[in-house]
Amino acid sequence: MQAQKIAIIGSGPAGLAAAAYLTRDGQDVTLFERFAAPRPIGAGLLLQPTGLACLGVLGLDGAAIETGAKISNLLGRTASGRNIIELSYRDLAPHLFGVGIHRGALFNILYGEAQRQRIEIVTEAEIVDTALVADKRTITAKNGRQYGPFDLVVDASGMRSGLRSKYARIKLDKPYPYGAVWGVCADPGQAFGQDYLRQRFDGAKIMIGLLAIGRRPQDNEKSLTFFWSLPAHSYAQWREDGIDAWKAKVHHYWPEIQPFVDQFKTVDDLTFAQYNDVIVKPWHGDRIVFIGDAAHSTSPQLGQGANLGLVDSMMLALSLRDNNGVNAALDAYTRARHSHTYFYQLASRALTPFFQSDSSCAAWLRDNTFGLMGRVPFTKTHMLRTFAGVKTGPLTHLNPGKWHPGYDVRKNHPPEALARLPA
Ligand SMILES: Cc1cc2nc3c(=O)[nH]c(=O)nc-3n(C[C@H](O)[C@H](O)[C@H](O)COP(=O)(O)OP(=O)(O)OC[C@H]3O[C@@H](n4cnc5c(N)ncnc54)[C@H](O)[C@@H]3O)c2cc1C
Repeated sequence: MQAQKIAIIGSGPAGLAAAAYLTRDGQDVTLFERFAAPRPIGAGLLLQPTGLACLGVLGLDGAAIETGAKISNLLGRTASGRNIIELSYRDLAPHLFGVGIHRGALFNILYGEAQRQRIEIVTEAEIVDTALVADKRTITAKNGRQYGPFDLVVDASGMRSGLRSKYARIKLDKPYPYGAVWGVCADPGQAFGQDYLRQRFDGAKIMIGLLAIGRRPQDNEKSLTFFWSLPAHSYAQWREDGIDAWKAKVHHYWPEIQPFVDQFKTVDDLTFAQYNDVIVKPWHGDRIVFIGDAAHSTSPQLGQGANLGLVDSMMLALSLRDNNGVNAALDAYTRARHSHTYFYQLASRALTPFFQSDSSCAAWLRDNTFGLMGRVPFTKTHMLRTFAGVKTGPLTHLNPGKWHPGYDVRKNHPPEALARLPA
């Protein structure tokens, strides 16, 4: 197919990665961002082997590994000391691991690639509408300015996409009852979080998490991202109660993390995030496609959202490369992404009440079955595949190593980056 003129809306992980894949394939891409300067929002996230493989296809996995923190182990313990999640990616395959990374660091890696590829980025352009004119699309910004025509519009504008509500067939768009406050704290001596995502639970109402995320961009200091689960309706009360009342609660459940929690001086040092469960079918219309959270926002319980967005971006570029005609490529794209994305939407929806809800029954079931499932080889493998981001159905999974000819997840991590990792 000849080079297409493509507008991408949003410079989050999905939009930036899509811009990089598509430009690399010779497409003519313009990226639109509502902010005056593109910037990351939020604290840290866990890149799964899937997301790392996608970055590897762009040659960026080494940078993520070097900046972030290698995560091999997932440890979830109840306040009474019972381990209910105790998994290591290594048990799936010795070379597999995740990478905890500051959002700013991931942004810098992808934005640096966009600059290297000289991708045009239009800032202060909040896109509010699009129109089909003959077989092209225009887009309109909030200030009335029109851009285009384009052969394709890619909406990567995140969970609150305005175009989605106008132009997609939405089956579900519903907030989860629980969200989380989260922030970043320093761990210069890497005393606590190295190589771990650690969580502490009490029932399904209390969930605390700490994830090593490597160096934060502003001062290069080794850091952790911290989250505390909270029902959305009680966020205002949480602020009113004040930081000291909250710190006392955290101390009660998890005294060892006091030095990290003490770094938060006011409630404003933590940001509240709520998430929606969004189902859109199909993910495309005439010359428009939704990717990342704009297409399938879900609970971050399984730590997959940004990873799914990276896979979307790569698959979209492959679909345009391999099909004749934009709409045929979008049909192929939706088919290619179907099972992987729906599995994680379903799994996140099903699992979230076990970790973030008022249900004591769900918590009891979790505390009395998850640990056992993590020890029985068959269920352990499926739990690990679920965390690693590779599941496409109850018994099926994909192999990220096959996504790109010549790419091998095992070989592609640059030796100099791997050498710096702890054993
Ligand atoms: C507490 C929490 C923890 C999480 N942890 C993880 C994790 O461990 N692992 C993981 O993979 N995922 C995690 N996620 C999910 C992850 O953050 C999202 O899935 C991911 O950021 C989605 O990327 P995106 O590019 O689709 O959208 P976003 O990151 O939301 O980016 C959207 C971009 O579009 C821009 N924009 C919005 N509207 C417009 C407009 N109208 N015009 C122009 N520009 C616009 C925005 O400014 C932004 O730059 C977590 C989420 C939360 C809330």
